Amino acid sequence: MEKMICNNLSINSAGHLTLGGADTVALANKYGTPLYIMDEDRIRERCRTYKTSMARAFGDKSYPLFASKAASFKQIYRIIMEEGLGTDLVSSGELYTATSVGFPLAKAYFHSNNKTDADIAYAIDRGVGYFVVDNVEELDAIDKIAGDKNVKQKILLRLTPGIDPHTYEAVTTGKVDSKFGSAIETGQAEQIAKYATELSNIVLYGFHCHVGSQVFDSDVFLRASEIMLDFIALMSKKYGFVTRELDLGGGYGVRYLDSDPEIDIAENIAKVGTHVKAYCHKLGIDMPEIRMEPGRSIVADAGLTLYTAGTVKRIPGYKNYVSVDGGMADNPRYALYRSPYTVCLANRMDSTAPTFNCTLAGRCCESGDLIQENVTLPADIKRGDMIAVLTTGAYNYSMASNYNRLPKPPIVMVKDGKEYIAVKRESLEDICKNDI
Ligand SMILES: *Cc1c(COP(=O)(O)O)cnc(C)c1O
Repeated sequence: MEKMICNNLSINSAGHLTLGGADTVALANKYGTPLYIMDEDRIRERCRTYKTSMARAFGDKSYPLFASKAASFKQIYRIIMEEGLGTDLVSSGELYTATSVGFPLAKAYFHSNNKTDADIAYAIDRGVGYFVVDNVEELDAIDKIAGDKNVKQKILLRLTPGIDPHTYEAVTTGKVDSKFGSAIETGQAEQIAKYATELSNIVLYGFHCHVGSQVFDSDVFLRASEIMLDFIALMSKKYGFVTRELDLGGGYGVRYLDSDPEIDIAENIAKVGTHVKAYCHKLGIDMPEIRMEPGRSIVADAGLTLYTAGTVKRIPGYKNYVSVDGGMADNPRYALYRSPYTVCLANRMDSTAPTFNCTLAGRCCESGDLIQENVTLPADIKRGDMIAVLTTGAYNYSMASNYNRLPKPPIVMVKDGKEYIAVKRESLEDICKNDI
């Protein structure tokens, strides 16, 4: 057997796929399918890598924020809280989930390109640390609501440094024409920054950028930090403004396929650290505290999804389909943007070389409900086999829906080879609980 795409995966003597030392087939038999499994040890390991690398590279006051949107449920916040990470949130729902387990909101950054007045009021009432402000209308709204509540609200401004990270277009957000943030190139960033310093209920702490996702090239962060530091130096020279925090966003890539490169996050952050220090020195400015916002690279390869195979449909001369008992409701990413995944036969990892080329299809009533095309599985694949889709810890549960009234699968966490339920399976009653 060749090397697996992540070192928390293995094959046991029964020929079953294991994750974090636990037999995934045994878990599927116990908890049913579809089933999300997540490896808590891996999540913690990734948190520590970011935390220690950032402290080393940028100083003790710099720390990572977990990007909630990648995976938001109570147990994740308990874990990242214990590991000393902050978090970024994009909705009242994510904020409520975090606070419900006592997450310290002083280290919470509220994002989104369109926060509603209700979001702003709710977040201020709960004591959110920062808003990452996208535009002038929002800045005015926060200033007003904070004023009404007699609060001086800390913020960062989201800027677009104008970099195309050469990743997939749909997840590219740092370009000038993005729906997110204010562009440095057009002068709008300077305008909004100057304006923010004049508002009486706003305390401008610094600036944020997020260049894109699935970034494998550390040059992207080096280039983004230069552009942001140039801007920070300009704000200092022109207005005497001292920037306390610079948030470089998220985006380090993970391996969905064998062909994806493996990145050494510690080494990459060290490189960014050396560069940022030298560049601040060159510009004659103090280095701000640094934030980064990893989402995917904290949780993605900690997770996988297990399905039971159903129909195996052979259309001679055309295509083959293997249908599973989940689909776009628990993983809409292939349907949305053709996200690649590695697929394997979890209950027969030792079976002879895969030769059966097929499309892995979901059970929803949509032709586009596919999990992956051009998958190769053993030729004797049949109803009842157990199929694993790897690297589903990010943007799967968090993007799941109840389309076709499918209950959301549970999340079973594995720690030290033993499992526990982090999120229960939805019941049929849960699905109708708000229906009148
Ligand atoms: C999506 C997002 C992240 C996390 O990106 P990953 O690719 O999951 O690391 C971080 N910050 C912002 C502003 C984002 O929109």
